[in-house]
Amino acid sequence: MNVIKNLKLLELNDLEIYSAINGEEKREQQGIELIPSENYTWPEVLIANGSILTNKYSEGYPGKRYYGGQEFTDRVESIAIERAKKLFRAEHANVQPLSGSPMNQAVYLSFCKPGDTILGMDLSHGGHLTHGAPVSHMGQIFNFVRYKTDPENNGKIDFDELLKTAKEKKPKIILCGYTSYPRDLDYAAFKKVADEVGAVTMADMAHIAGLIAGNAMKNPLDFGFDIMTITTHKSLRGPRAGLILCKKKFAKQIDKSVFPGLQGGPHMHTIAAMAVALGKAMQPEFKTYAHQILKNAQALAQVFLNNNVKLITNGTDNHMMVIDTIKSFNIDGKTAEQTLDKISVTVNKQTIPDDPNPPLKPSGIRLGTPAATTRGMQEIEMQKIGAWIINGLTIYQDENKLREIKKEVEAMCLQFPVPGI
Ligand SMILES: *Cc1c(COP(=O)(O)O)cnc(C)c1O
Repeated sequence: MNVIKNLKLLELNDLEIYSAINGEEKREQQGIELIPSENYTWPEVLIANGSILTNKYSEGYPGKRYYGGQEFTDRVESIAIERAKKLFRAEHANVQPLSGSPMNQAVYLSFCKPGDTILGMDLSHGGHLTHGAPVSHMGQIFNFVRYKTDPENNGKIDFDELLKTAKEKKPKIILCGYTSYPRDLDYAAFKKVADEVGAVTMADMAHIAGLIAGNAMKNPLDFGFDIMTITTHKSLRGPRAGLILCKKKFAKQIDKSVFPGLQGGPHMHTIAAMAVALGKAMQPEFKTYAHQILKNAQALAQVFLNNNVKLITNGTDNHMMVIDTIKSFNIDGKTAEQTLDKISVTVNKQTIPDDPNPPLKPSGIRLGTPAATTRGMQEIEMQKIGAWIINGLTIYQDENKLREIKKEVEAMCLQFPVPGI
């Protein structure tokens, strides 16, 4: 079998790309990755993802392909489907979406015609770009209407308001699941509203897929949701890809919407890597991992709360938190992100609910614990990380002090190797 770790061949034949990959390996090893949508995948996933399966065209589905030579690709895709169904207690799985964006597009296009209404979360309150941002094509094709969280009430969603909007706007789909919302969701309440107005329920669980797989958070499918979409490269630790889980009655239309509706040939190397990741996520160790992500998030949030740092919704129920950096440190999110880069702590700038500042210079940063947890960091490390962040953002203009903190950060990181490097 090919060995993708044999980077020597690449070094000999394409030094430019080799050295960029090498540089990225060093960067990932040296610093602390706190972007909540990132993770370090398993070496076995890297091997499958770098395999010769990339050579093969497999348009169609197992047993029903447009090209010959599908003995092994059928096996790979069927295994991925079976594991996905079992892990997420789903009636049907489509493992072909090339990433999270086409996965959500395939669902919208499966249930809606241009101009139809989809009810989703306000983007500044946590909704994702693919939930109909005006700059996205989906935002122009469909009529996205919004609900919000209540900042006075720890970010809770007001379901009376949501029901009112749903009755008025008559959405085809009610969408929940977000990219920057640190709280758990009341899926039963969403389902109740959807049933009342005859809408389909869709949960975009891209961020917390690993936490659901590890039984650390609730699974919307257990509450009768029609559709659940996940990305496999975030808390689930798999390859970059999307996965759609749905009720059997929607299986045909979802499959048709992914292929031939939206995509051509599936990426079989990615699907093999996804199957490997799903297999890993079924092991008992993964449950421990998922629960540790939450414990680490609690530990990190506690450091911030103890030091009067303003967290959006005043805390977290999942793996992520959003800091209001203007209120906490009197600096915007972009400056905060750049400051933390200087101490080798990677986060991303983040809009906060109804942010008065523009998206490229928003009022906050977002951080999360899946990647650090993958390296084996625990509560004690979270306390150190929290202190470094607070310290760094407080003295952000003092380059000498920032350099000192960076040394401490990098010394700790050496003790926690990145898997696959
Ligand atoms: C990351 C994410 C996506 C999209 O994933 P890509 O793979 O980046 O296209 C969709 N929805 C949510 C909630 C996400 O967090």
